[in-house]
Amino acid sequence: MKEDGKNNYTIFEPSPNNSGIERLTLENSIRKALRLEEFVLYYQPQIDTLTGKIIGTEALVRWNHPTLGLVPPAKFIPIAEETGLIVPLGEWVLRTACIQNQIWKEKGYAPMSVSVNLSSRQFSKQNLVKTITEILHETHIDPQYLELEITESMTMNVEVAIEVLGKLKELGIQICIDDFGTGYSNLYYLKLFSIDRLKIDQSFVRDIMTDSNDADIVATIIAMAHNLGIDVIAEGVETKEQLDFLRSQNCHEVQGFYYHRPLPVEEIEQLLMNTMEI
Ligand code: C2E
Ligand code: CA
Ligand code: CA
Ligand code: CA
Repeated sequence: MKEDGKNNYTIFEPSPNNSGIERLTLENSIRKALRLEEFVLYYQPQIDTLTGKIIGTEALVRWNHPTLGLVPPAKFIPIAEETGLIVPLGEWVLRTACIQNQIWKEKGYAPMSVSVNLSSRQFSKQNLVKTITEILHETHIDPQYLELEITESMTMNVEVAIEVLGKLKELGIQICIDDFGTGYSNLYYLKLFSIDRLKIDQSFVRDIMTDSNDADIVATIIAMAHNLGIDVIAEGVETKEQLDFLRSQNCHEVQGFYYHRPLPVEEIEQLLMNTMEI
């Protein structure tokens, strides 16, 4: 175990010289971590600012490494994607998030949705629909409370996107376009794909107060989403000023450090307990 820890430390410091070996080591570590169940989900609340209530959470994966501690997704998701390990990891995330959401429902907390990030490797997989169908059956989650976050790049192949998203919609789950505005934006396709929600990327939100272009972009995305009957949520909200701007543009669903960071299960439950109406 000690040796492992040492090796693992070096693999998180990418160097161009031995990246092949590092990748292989990291790949093996991820495989092992999946087997040993070292991954853990944090949940970041999504707030309806009109009511102040938590309407959902986004599940965000971390690696609870025995020697390195909590490793953020940026350090392992790219390799998991490259190696295809994102498929079993993503399935674990989906199943765990659904089980957790069901537990919260059974504990009597007000209904909330859970949003799960999907990678393009999962999206193009033939059996995504089958996997999700199984998870819905196993966990008994009401499909309307499961939201998948996809990115615009996944909809590049219009035919595949229409087919997969159509099947997912038939299951009754929600679809959100994540990081909206950073990729291939075409609002016409949004309608075609029957998207339920757009998530305005945090890079636009960050500079809302200082960059009038970003403020205009955000205002335009919100207005167009409303016109198309698509919900809109802003992520990366850190300040009261950003929140006030979003509210002035009629964007009332937000996620960000201003309210809460991603939290472990116990802390979310504490929060839900405090806001429960008895
Ligand atoms: P993302 O989907 O865009 O997730 C939002 C990221 O922004 C999260 O980082 C979150 O902690 C962070 N964030 C939330 N509010 C704020 C804020 O107010 N200010 C700032 N500066 N940041 C904020 P995190 O958890 O490190 O995740 C990073 C990325 O890793 C995610 O970006 C997502 O692309 C990926 N990821 C995380 N979990 C999963 C997963 O289960 N599957 C897949 N495929 N990707 C995942
Ligand atoms: Ca996301
Ligand atoms: Ca995002
Ligand atoms: Ca992002």
